[in-house]
Amino acid sequence: MAARPAPYLDELNPAQREAVEALDGPVLMLAGAGTGKTKALTARIVHLLRMGKARPNEILAVTFTNKAAREMKLRVGRMLGEVAEGMPWMGTFHSLSVKILRRHAELVGLKSNFTILDTDDQIRLLKQLIVAANIDEKRWPARMLAGMIDGWKNRALTPERVPSSEASGYANRGTELYAQYQERLRTLNACDFGDLLLHCVVIFQGHPDVLAQYQRWFRYILVDEYQDTNVCQYLWLRLLAQAHRNICCVGDDDQSIYGWRGAEVGNILRFEKDFPGAHVVRLEQNYRSTPHILAAASGVIAGNAGRLGKTLWTDVKEGEKVRLIGHWDGEEEARWIGEEIEALMRGGRGLDPVGLDGQAILVRASHQMRAFEDRFLTIGLPYRVIGGPRFYERQEIRDAMAYFRLAVSPEDDLAFERVVNVPKRGLGDKAQADIQRTARMAGVSLLEGARELVATGGIGGKGAGQLRAFVEGIDRWHALTRHEGASHIELAEMILEESGYTEMWQNDKTPEAPGRLENLKELVKALEQFDNLQGFLEHVALIMDNETEEAGEKVSIMTLHAAKGLEFPVVFLPGWEDGLFPSQRSMDESGLKGLEEERRLAYVGITRAEELCTISFASNRRVYGQWQSQLPSRFIDELPTAHVEVLTPPGLYGGGFGAAAPYAVSSSMDERVSKADVYNSPGWKRMQDRVQTRGVSTPREARGVVIDATAVSAFSEGDRVFHRKFGYGIVIGLEGDKLEIDFSKAGIKKVVAGFVVDADD
Ligand code: ATP
Ligand code: MG
Repeated sequence: MAARPAPYLDELNPAQREAVEALDGPVLMLAGAGTGKTKALTARIVHLLRMGKARPNEILAVTFTNKAAREMKLRVGRMLGEVAEGMPWMGTFHSLSVKILRRHAELVGLKSNFTILDTDDQIRLLKQLIVAANIDEKRWPARMLAGMIDGWKNRALTPERVPSSEASGYANRGTELYAQYQERLRTLNACDFGDLLLHCVVIFQGHPDVLAQYQRWFRYILVDEYQDTNVCQYLWLRLLAQAHRNICCVGDDDQSIYGWRGAEVGNILRFEKDFPGAHVVRLEQNYRSTPHILAAASGVIAGNAGRLGKTLWTDVKEGEKVRLIGHWDGEEEARWIGEEIEALMRGGRGLDPVGLDGQAILVRASHQMRAFEDRFLTIGLPYRVIGGPRFYERQEIRDAMAYFRLAVSPEDDLAFERVVNVPKRGLGDKAQADIQRTARMAGVSLLEGARELVATGGIGGKGAGQLRAFVEGIDRWHALTRHEGASHIELAEMILEESGYTEMWQNDKTPEAPGRLENLKELVKALEQFDNLQGFLEHVALIMDNETEEAGEKVSIMTLHAAKGLEFPVVFLPGWEDGLFPSQRSMDESGLKGLEEERRLAYVGITRAEELCTISFASNRRVYGQWQSQLPSRFIDELPTAHVEVLTPPGLYGGGFGAAAPYAVSSSMDERVSKADVYNSPGWKRMQDRVQTRGVSTPREARGVVIDATAVSAFSEGDRVFHRKFGYGIVIGLEGDKLEIDFSKAGIKKVVAGFVVDADD
């Protein structure tokens, strides 16, 4: 038989081809970053279809983010070209689970139109249970309970299955509250995130006929980022795959970064046990990064014990060394990175011009993002925050969504609570408590409780009429969601109008109101991409990363966790400071587990870069409103010297770049860059000198030392100053020996001039 042309195979190396062509039976592809695992997985889907092994809907591909699923769909579509007749099931564990669960919701006591709760709702619900159980919420915070419940769900433990040894965790009542919480969710016809998977596992385990149906359905299963699956996800996969064993998992133990969410690298090791005879493929050629970048990443990850171990090589041309630079504070770091990004756009630093889409800033903690956002807004540099504070988390959006939720599922009590008196309907605390009680006593939803109260005249005052209108509104909107011909977009607009919600913001005189109205319009616009309200609500519940996109190139700002699987020509890794990265928590922990996970995160970060990787740290940083002096990260010590270039801190030689510290670079790969190298660089010394001439010996002491009396005349309005107690601020007035200062944290204060230093020179 003549081979059909298959360009997607020609693009692969022999090891990748091996993994793609071993179509039947279990396959495990275990390989380092950038070796083309995702590429091979995508080619495998195409190959399955091309070889006639499966129809599109018989293939199930699990990715880690919705974004990754979308990308894979695009690529598969492109590779398939004309053959495409439908698409495989591609999505995250969560999005795939929702689809399955909607079809069998009744098996776990839900209706198919169940709502998906977000963390906010979850916490609110838990608080109610905690209060009802007479537990001191201050001592035993709801968040703690939420964390425990998530942990159990990640391990596929329903309340009955939680080992008794773990019951003592939360005031000895953890499992009891967990059971109550599950019960409450059922009456609300709702699920939290963990439930989506857990319910599927429970259904598969308890209903062999349903399981068999899906096993027949999903004849080929593929999983990307396998190292980050937790026990529940693992069971989900194993149940689906155990009959036909056609499962292909790809992953990298060195990139396992979700241990804190219950991911278990051990799943990789278990794979060969659960699927004996698995075809194991190793890939060693990295196609993404330059040798310097790869060597730096390898140098760092070498510090971890207990790795499966692997070799990586590349024949990409040598390129630039990994750059390392220290800054005075986080703001200076942001300013410098902003300038670098613009310089790289114009084609500087020995590289061809790199557009904004090709540049990314990867932070350890999301609070680091603010400095970049502020800076980029100031200089007008377009950026996007991936996984940051999301559009859908804004108050007006959440309110509007609550209205939509009520229209789709009128028994959604959390949504009811949220908007019953928004806008104000004259329903005070007492009226709301009456609704709650009526509903509880009759065992019905709040909507029904309210209906009852209205009918029996149990509610007085002007609230009565308005509550009646609210109840009738929900009935009408709900009827319309089920009406075939009705447009969901018009319905959404109607809901916002009739409920008085839009009007509420139109009458609002606060400066934010116009923006909120804009956002509501944006929300209705977003509906256009969906067939109905339910589909939209589902989408919003599922998007974990910010996926609303406007046109134009933008720098990406995201956490290291969100950067998994992605690649950029230029990557900035700011904030490499002990306590930030590695995180304080990982450093405080006994044992090395946390620290090793942080190190893997460093490895993930460096290996996102194709051509240029810049690591930076600051000596001072404001963390949750507190100024702190910082020490460079211990991971900096682990960077192999030969692959790193230490840059001079800016602002010392007139914005000087390029005057790299001429410290002795060792040619031995094993030698590490030490903090001493950084501190001994002339630039760093100059910075220290500068600090010393101001009467402060080190950055650490800068905050604790009273500076010699400085005359008021040394300052003028608009100066940026630093005060040892109040932090940074701007001078807004001069008076005698006092300065009036608007502190960014402490507000406006009058202080003696001698107690502040100019922050900018
Ligand atoms: P990560 O571990 O970071 O998820 P990965 O192993 O999934 O990485 P891919 O993202 O699939 O790696 O591939 C990395 C880059 O290398 C991509 O740009 C991809 O197109 C390219 N690549 C992969 N395999 C080949 C190949 N055989 N020939 C040329 N380029 C390749
Ligand atoms: Mg990948």
